[in-house]
Amino acid sequence: MSERFTGSFTQQEPIPQAGIDAALAVMQSGRLHRYNTVGDEQGEAALLEQEFAALTGARYALAVASGGYAMGCALRAIGVRPGDKVLTNAFTLAPVPGAIASVGAVPVFVGVTEGLVIDLEDLRAKADQADVLMLSHMRGHLCDMDALMEICDTHGIKVIEDCAHTMGAQWRGTASGRFGIIGCYSTQTYKHANSGEGGFLITDDAEIAARAIMLSGSYMLYERHLAAPEPEVFERIKYDTPNVSGRMDNLRAAILRPQLADLPAQVARWNARYAVVEAGLRDTPGLTVIARDPRGVFVGSSIQFLLLDWSAEAVQEVIARCLTRGVELKWFGGAEPSGFTSRYDSWRYAPSSPMPDSDRVLRGIVDMRLPLTFAEEDCALIARIIRSEVSAVYQAQGRA
Ligand SMILES: *Cc1c(COP(=O)(O)O)cnc(C)c1O
Repeated sequence: MSERFTGSFTQQEPIPQAGIDAALAVMQSGRLHRYNTVGDEQGEAALLEQEFAALTGARYALAVASGGYAMGCALRAIGVRPGDKVLTNAFTLAPVPGAIASVGAVPVFVGVTEGLVIDLEDLRAKADQADVLMLSHMRGHLCDMDALMEICDTHGIKVIEDCAHTMGAQWRGTASGRFGIIGCYSTQTYKHANSGEGGFLITDDAEIAARAIMLSGSYMLYERHLAAPEPEVFERIKYDTPNVSGRMDNLRAAILRPQLADLPAQVARWNARYAVVEAGLRDTPGLTVIARDPRGVFVGSSIQFLLLDWSAEAVQEVIARCLTRGVELKWFGGAEPSGFTSRYDSWRYAPSSPMPDSDRVLRGIVDMRLPLTFAEEDCALIARIIRSEVSAVYQAQGRA
């Protein structure tokens, strides 16, 4: 009898009791809208922003309706106009090119390496095509941020970081999201803090912060923010910054505040699970484990490996066989977008030229979620299942 896993890859942990209690208090007050405060009361959304700024070390923070909203808002706040080109990763997910398209701008895709980070050679080659890079730290793989910033600074490229998978991660001691001019985060259910939907934008630039707050729909109530620039900065931009509503509400903020306080402990729990799966997959013939750069602190909320130069049929067979044993793997090589997975050439509103080296990597990427509802024994079992099915298919191909 072969072993089978019976857990759910999409089941997250419950909201901490402190978050449930705080959410109930907000509901009892009836004051869910962030600007619906009494006297000098500080609303949950404003307090959340203050705490997120402290957590990341940013001067200013804004909580918004989603990670995708944060990215679109970031592009608007730095003045990206319809028709402008924006560099971004070929290996990312649909909200990233979607945010660029939402402001009428045009994505220019930059390739991916076998380490699953942005290809810095390709970035250098395309650096004169745009003056903004929307850098997606896809699946938590941080590139050499010092080298990336040097390329971007040399070419006058403004960097916006998509930290949907790196909330809690660092590069050489600096929080992800603090290298670029703006950092964007998601608090959607499958990310590192769960408010159903939600997101953040952080920056040290007073004018960008003021514009983002105005854009998010502050109805000139910006003085109620606790992680915002001085009112004078708003005076300068308030007449020429449109309202594109995408606020965070007090209910979601109440749910998030205790989760942010727990983030460092959660990161340790994710990484313990990741280490068990990684150890179980290491040295499987035909399978490449992704090396993590020791200069980074990552958050192991998912794991990827490569079946490099395998045929599509063989990869699909591994995925099908793992699924019959309860292990849900995603593949980035599929011709059609499915579930959460899609490829740069499936976003037909954003034409791209083929990138053969990146296509070879994408065809090999297998991806798996690691929710905190898995125990470490579950992770060991999952790794044994993947290892045995990859080995079986590899041997059947006559490659072992
Ligand atoms: C989830 C995600 C986002 C933001 O998504 P929302 O669902 O809009 O919060 C951005 N980038 C990546 C890579 C993501 O996975």
